[in-house]
Parts: sequence; C-alpha cells; structure tokens
Amino acid sequence: MSVPGSQRIAVIGGGISGMAEAFYLSARHEVTLFEAGPRLGGHTATVDVALNGERHAVDTGFIVFNDWTYPHFIRLLNTLGVAAQPTEMSFSVHETERDFEYNGHTLGSLFAQRSNLASPGFYRLLGDIVRFNRRATRDLEAGRLPDGMTLGDYLDQQGYGEAFQRRYLLPMGAAIWSASLDDLRGFPLAFFVRFFRNHGLLNIANRPQWYTVKGGSRAYIPALTAPYAERIRLNAPVAAVTRDATGVTVTTAAGSERFDRVVLACHADQALKILGSDATPAEREVLGAMPYQDNEVVLHTDTALLPRRRRAWASWNYRLDRRGASDAVSVTYNMNILQRLDADTTFCVTLNDSQSIDPSRILRRFTYAHPRFTLEGQAAQARHGDICGAPQSHGRTHFCGAYWRNGFHEDGVWSALRVAQKLGCDEPAAPFEPPTAIPAHQLLPDGGPGDMG
Ligand SMILES: Cc1cc2nc3c(=O)[nH]c(=O)nc-3n(C[C@H](O)[C@H](O)[C@H](O)COP(=O)(O)OP(=O)(O)OC[C@H]3O[C@@H](n4cnc5c(N)ncnc54)[C@H](O)[C@@H]3O)c2cc1C
Repeated sequence: MSVPGSQRIAVIGGGISGMAEAFYLSARHEVTLFEAGPRLGGHTATVDVALNGERHAVDTGFIVFNDWTYPHFIRLLNTLGVAAQPTEMSFSVHETERDFEYNGHTLGSLFAQRSNLASPGFYRLLGDIVRFNRRATRDLEAGRLPDGMTLGDYLDQQGYGEAFQRRYLLPMGAAIWSASLDDLRGFPLAFFVRFFRNHGLLNIANRPQWYTVKGGSRAYIPALTAPYAERIRLNAPVAAVTRDATGVTVTTAAGSERFDRVVLACHADQALKILGSDATPAEREVLGAMPYQDNEVVLHTDTALLPRRRRAWASWNYRLDRRGASDAVSVTYNMNILQRLDADTTFCVTLNDSQSIDPSRILRRFTYAHPRFTLEGQAAQARHGDICGAPQSHGRTHFCGAYWRNGFHEDGVWSALRVAQKLGCDEPAAPFEPPTAIPAHQLLPDGGPGDMG
C-alpha cells in the first residue's frame, strides 16, 4: 500500500488503542475520534473517591506497567511528560475455607501462615515452582513447546501437582488475564510461557520494575488527546461503517459522515457488529475468532476479601474458594499498595466476586469485557494483514486494539503504532528511558507495603 498524503481519518474507540492511534496519526492526518461513552479512556478508568474527609484518585481498570515489556507506552509517557511512580507487584493466594494462604513476595510473606513451614505439600508446591521455571524456560528456548498444545495438557503431561497448578500457576495467570482457571488450562502453551518469561515470572530474582501512572492512570489522557481535542466526539456510539471505492461512511445517531479511512480501535466483536452486513468474509472469520469475557469489577473497602493475615496482603490477592459451579477468577487488587495511596482506608478492587463483598462497603461497580486467549484466537491474530488495509474493503479499513497481542496497554499502543506506520506516521523519536519516576522512598507513606508485618 502506498503511503497516503494527509487524509480525513475516523478512529472508533477512545481507549488507549484509539487515543494512541489518533495521537500518532494526527501528526500527518486530520483525525476524528468517536467514543461511545461519556468519557475517554475505556479500560483506563480512574475514579475520584471522597471518604472520611480524604480524596483519592483510584484506578479500577488499567493500573500497572513495567520497564521490560512496555517500551512504546513508556516512550509515549516520556514524550508527553507524564510521570510514573514505582510500585510493588506481589501476589498472594488464599483459600478461606481451608485457612491456607501465602504471599510470594518475600521469604517472610511466603510463610505468612507459619504452619506452611511444616507442610510437606507446601514444599512440593515450591519444588514444582522451581522445576516449572527451569523446564518451561528450557523448552521455550529449545523450541520444544508444540504449537497446538495447551497449558493444561503440558502441566498434566509433565506431572505437575494439583497444588502447583491450582494454588500457584493457574491463579496467577487467571489474575493476569482476568480469566477462569479452566480458561487458563486452555491457553496456548507457547503464548503463556513466552509471556511469563518476558515478564520475569519464570525466575525469582531478575524481574522488571513495575510502575503506575502518578495521580491515577487517566493522568496521561489530556496530553495524549491534546493534538485532536476539538475533534473528539463523546457519547457517540458508531452504529455502522460502510466502505466504497471513494471513501468510508461512519454513522452515529447524529447522522453520517464521510472519511477517507477508518480505524476500528474497539474490541473485535464490537468492530464486527459495527461493520455488520458490510463485513467481508475475511473480517468475519478473523474478528469472529476472538472471544471476550465480561468481568464484574467492584471498588470497595471490605478487607475481608484480602488474606486473613495482614502479613500476607499483596498487591494482587487471589481467592481460591470455589463458589457454586463458577470457576471465574476472584482477585482483589490492594490499591493502597499499587498506587502508594496515603490513606487510612484500604481501597480494594475486586474482580468477579461481588457477592462476597459487604454491600455497605461498595463504592462503585463496573463491567469490563476482556479478550479470552485461545488457539483459534491466536491464529486469527496472525491474520491481521488479511483484513487491515485489505483490497476487499477498498484498502480503507484498519484495526487496532490490545486484543491483537497479549491484551495489555503496551499491546494497545503497539497495535496502534502498527497501523500508524502503514499510514505514514511513526512514534516521536524519544529515546527509550525508564519512566520519569519519583524515587520510591519519597513516595511511601509510613507503614507502606514493605512494613506490613
Ligand atoms: C480490570 C482490568 C484491569 C486491567 N489492568 C491492566 C494493567 O494493570 N496493565 C495493563 O497493561 N493492562 C491492564 N488491563 C488490560 C486493558 O484491557 C488494556 O491495557 C487496555 O486498556 C485495553 O485498551 P483498548 O483501547 O484496546 O480497549 P478499551 O480500553 O476497552 O477501549 C475500547 C473503547 O471503544 C469504545 N467503543 C466500543 N464500541 C464503540 C462504538 N460502537 N463506537 C464508539 N466507541 C466504541 C469503548 O467505549 C471503549 O472506550 C486491565 C483490564 C481490566 C479489565
């Protein structure tokens, strides 16, 4: 495809993918961004909470990123002059009914429940962790992870114990991807192991530094959207997009508008719905192969969702109690640790466990759809070139979104950049440097996460 001169481009979706897309494209093109909701951000969803005379900006969607696997997002923050602050990424598991809990952050927190010191089963779990870390890394590097194999099949084939699977690896993955334990077993093996290796999750010592955006994740939105601020349409759900030889028609409740091109920066299923009967067979196949799952997210102050022992409180807390037939993840983020909130109250964000939360302590409820990762979806990701700028849709339709790779913020930015480069734009030439960060010791309130015993 030849690189176009300045064009009129519609971007549909105001999450990180759409906002980054519009930012990159606006260096050369006239961009209009359509967002269905009343605010920008999509899964970047910081809310203002006023409680007991204090005000806090608490994240309920996108929270963390790191200095290993978010190069484009970090470059974007540095370009925009947005500050980040270091955070701690610790992980706990607790099973209330059996009074079992641990926090993998330090040796002390690992044995937060002292009886684990004398539990052979607990040592078997630790042994399996070491074995999996070594073996999976070796198998990945030697190209020994079969393409069509799922994580569950690999774990069973290699004889990993029930405790390792259900109390360590699967919950950690389920918490990362907001998925169920069964979904995790169905994950493409190589995709899972590569992600864990790339994020330092297969070794104990050498791990990335994690960060949050200072002041809440929404703090980057004003600078990211400034170049096209006057052409942002909020409360403007796009009902239809049709393509023809001379342009693209975008239809909302306010009417129809013509553009030269369109970038669909919403989820795959939403994109397919918007294209409707205008979708090409390839668009139907590729977008239709990417499933989503709704996650209930509750912002609250009920610490009963955290481990019983305060020493075991981590940034991410996975609760294993089985409730009915549901195998959905129940994870609670401790926002005071993650965002370094200087607050007397502990703010929690819990996914998929609303019925366990004391209703009087609930502050806000949300539902966010998250991509589910399957072997079919992975094959569809590899077919981006079949539908992005494809001649069947007159070369005028493009797709970006976190769902095109691992489902995270960097993937949204990476996928936006991939489209922007096709349309003759690039990221500003800022060198990759660690985020503009404030040293952790200047941020920690007294009794911060390192001091929770
Ligand atoms: C609870 C939770 C926590 C997370 N935490 C992290 C984290 O810590 N780190 C991380 O990297 N990732 C995290 N993620 C993953 C997150 O999904 C991605 O990082 C990223 O924010 C997704 O961005 P997106 O732009 O692709 O999609 P979205 O943010 O979902 O944006 C899509 C946008 O399209 C709009 N839209 C849909 N249909 C239409 C239409 N017809 N017309 C106009 N607009 C439309 C939607 O309203 C929405 O604003 C988290 C996700 C969840 C659910």
